Amino acid sequence: MLLFLRANLSCYPLPVELQERIIRLLPLRDLNALRAIPRLNDDMKTHLKARIIRLFVSYGLDGQKSLDMMFSTGTIISGSAALAIVAPGSCEPRDLNLYCAAGAAHGAIKLILGTKGFVETPSPLKALMTERTPFSKFEVNNGIKRIYRFVHVPSSKVVTLSESISTSTLAPILFFHTTLLMNYVSGSGATAFYPELTYRCAGLLNYSQEFEKIHKPDVLNHWKQLGMEICDDCEEWHQDHPSVSPNVRRGMCQWAYRQTNDQWTERMNFRTGTRVKLGPTLAWRLGHRYRGRKEVMHHKTSVHLVHEDWFKMCLYKAAVEWVRYYAPIDKATGAIDSANWKRSFPQ
Ligand SMILES: [Zn+2]
Repeated sequence: MLLFLRANLSCYPLPVELQERIIRLLPLRDLNALRAIPRLNDDMKTHLKARIIRLFVSYGLDGQKSLDMMFSTGTIISGSAALAIVAPGSCEPRDLNLYCAAGAAHGAIKLILGTKGFVETPSPLKALMTERTPFSKFEVNNGIKRIYRFVHVPSSKVVTLSESISTSTLAPILFFHTTLLMNYVSGSGATAFYPELTYRCAGLLNYSQEFEKIHKPDVLNHWKQLGMEICDDCEEWHQDHPSVSPNVRRGMCQWAYRQTNDQWTERMNFRTGTRVKLGPTLAWRLGHRYRGRKEVMHHKTSVHLVHEDWFKMCLYKAAVEWVRYYAPIDKATGAIDSANWKRSFPQ
C-alpha cells in the first residue's frame, strides 16, 4: 500500500478509484500512518470525514449537517457504527447510537426530527433511567440518564440518542460490556481507546459479577459469531498487570488505570484547530477479578473525574465517583424487564 502511494501523483500505479477502495478498508491506525507522508495528510483527513458522512447518509441523515451538529453540541457516535469507522469491515453496524452530555440533547433531536422520514418512537424507551426503587437491586452504573429512539421509516433504520447523566459525553461508553465498543466519532475526528486489540478483532470483557443479569442475553456470542475474540480475564494474556509491571501495555489490560487523554488512546482529527470538548477528563478501570487472600475478589467498572492536582502528582485518585444507577426492575415480580436491557446497554 505504502509503496503504491509513495509514487508521484502523476504516475500512480493504481487507478485512483482503486486506491480509494483500498483506503476505505483501512483502520484508523493506517490512516494515521499515511498522514506521516506530508502530501497525503490532507487526503487522509478528507477521507475520514467522508467515511463519517457516508455513515450518516446510510441512516437517512444529512451527513454534513449531522457532522456540524456533532461539532457544535459535543454529540458523538459510539457502538457498532463507531467500530465500523475505526476498523472498517469488523462488523456490520446495526443501530446508529449517538451520545451527548446532560442537557445537550436538543441539537440532535432537532436535526433528526427535522429530517424527512424520521419519527420518534413512543414512550417506554424514552423513560428516565434514574429512578430508584427498593426493588432496584442490580447495579448498572452505566452513566446514562435518558434514551431517545428514532426510526427512519422508509428504511426502518434506528437512531438512538443517549443523554449522559453528567457533563461528560464519554461516561456511558466506558461502561460498555467490551472494549471492542469503546470507540467514538466526534464532530472533529475518531478515537479508539483500545486500538491494538480492536484492530486485531479482540476485546477485553468489562467484567461484572452480575453480567448475566445486567446485559442482554447472548451479547457476547454476537461478537464471537462475528469472529471476534472476547477475553474474559486478561490473565489469559499476561500475569504482570500494569500495577505490577510497567512493561504491560495498558491498552491490553483490565486492571489498568486509564484516562480519556492517555497515550494508549488512538485518535485522528480531520478538522484543524481545537477538538470538540466532550466534558472533563475521565479516568476509568475495567471490571475484573483478582485473587484476594482467601477468595476471588471482584472489581466493578469504575469511572472517575480526574482531579487536576492529583493528576499533576501522577496519581490516579478519584475526586468524584459517578453516582451509581440501578436497572429498572418490575415492581410486581422483582425481575428485570427484558425491554430494559436495551435501554441500559444500547448497541
Ligand atoms: Zn492485565
